[in-house]
Amino acid sequence: MSVKCIRCRKCNTEFVPSKLNNCPSCNGILEIIYDYDKINLDIFFKENIYKDHRMWQYKDLLPLADESNIVSLGEGGTPLIAADNLNVSDKIKCQILLKLESQNPSGSFKDRPTSVAISKAKELQAQTVIVSSSGNAAASTSAYAVRASMKAVICLPQSTDINKVSQAITHGAQVVYIEGSVSDSFNMVKKASEFYGWPNITSTFINPYTVEGDKTVAYELWKQMDSDVPDVVIIPIGAGPLLVGIHKGFQELKYFNLIKKIPRLVGVQAARCSPIFKAYLNKQESVNAWLNPINTIATGIADPLVGYEQDGLLTLQTILKSGGCVISLEEDEINASLRKLSRNVGVYAEPTAATPIGALKKLVEQKVVDSGEKVVCIITGHGLKYKDTVDYQPPVISSLEELKTIIKGSSAE
Ligand SMILES: *Cc1c(COP(=O)(O)O)cnc(C)c1O
Ligand SMILES: [Zn+2]
Repeated sequence: MSVKCIRCRKCNTEFVPSKLNNCPSCNGILEIIYDYDKINLDIFFKENIYKDHRMWQYKDLLPLADESNIVSLGEGGTPLIAADNLNVSDKIKCQILLKLESQNPSGSFKDRPTSVAISKAKELQAQTVIVSSSGNAAASTSAYAVRASMKAVICLPQSTDINKVSQAITHGAQVVYIEGSVSDSFNMVKKASEFYGWPNITSTFINPYTVEGDKTVAYELWKQMDSDVPDVVIIPIGAGPLLVGIHKGFQELKYFNLIKKIPRLVGVQAARCSPIFKAYLNKQESVNAWLNPINTIATGIADPLVGYEQDGLLTLQTILKSGGCVISLEEDEINASLRKLSRNVGVYAEPTAATPIGALKKLVEQKVVDSGEKVVCIITGHGLKYKDTVDYQPPVISSLEELKTIIKGSSAE
């Protein structure tokens, strides 16, 4: 609520807050700039962070002009739990914490960027919003559009998890499948948004407001860790606004002298579609689109970045600035992560959201993470939405005798 302007990250041109997407003069990524001198730091020291507005208690550092435009379903304020049973390594004992973003209203962290984007769309008097999504942003947008009495038009690749599509349809959104990948859907939405004048609230960097919601994760971590931050934060990345947002949150905490150092940020991609990892590995100066994506179970991060490669570069540069790295995981490693999370900890996540566990295993093996370090894994989305992957048929029985035989034969006894 103390926005100074919107500034282009590339050519530094400044604009007034509006329906702008990328920079009109150079197509660069835009960023919201605040007047930090106007911020009363009391917002960081409120006692009960779960009271009333959870994420919006940080409204002074969110990009609205008038708080009556806040559209909220109770997003943010998600639990941070210890996960000592994860057993990622016998040798190195780091302290593992899980930030359960899966507990947001629509089941993923996307509710943070969506709440900010829809609130801003309301402030700009939009009646319809449009979004491109791999599923969770669709579910989220459809819910928040209802909350704001707006229409939502949602474009998705046909391979999207059916439960996420059902969520959007149930909320009454106009849902269409776009042939091809998330990038084809993204480019369709870009054209439609320009044609109709509807705010494009896709959570890449095309909408400068969305990433501001993501940064509140950093504020909450600081609060939940008693005015401290972890050494490492592991984050699944598509284009990477969640990671860049979290970095911005830490940067602000540092600017306000609340922390001394910014955690190392680790981005996780699926090997089958990993343009940012590839650029990292080859030490490239730019990120190239991934031209032949293969279907992966990590649907939430399978973004080939065709036509918005600069988004991947911003994410990579942010990771490097923090002293972090990028990890990619094969399908069996993602499955193993999911199993560990569900069977050792009791957390039911979608495959994408479990990837930080597999990444942590690699970081420990490569000695990038050391004993005693504090590591936060961002569990970005709930397992309930993911299409069925279980290949076990429970036996059908009718007597205690049959049950006894089964229990005897299993290790459950
Ligand atoms: C969208 C999404 C991501 C990726 O976040 P970006 O900000 O697009 O990089 C990660 N996990 C889940 C569950 C998602 O839905
Ligand atoms: Zn520019």
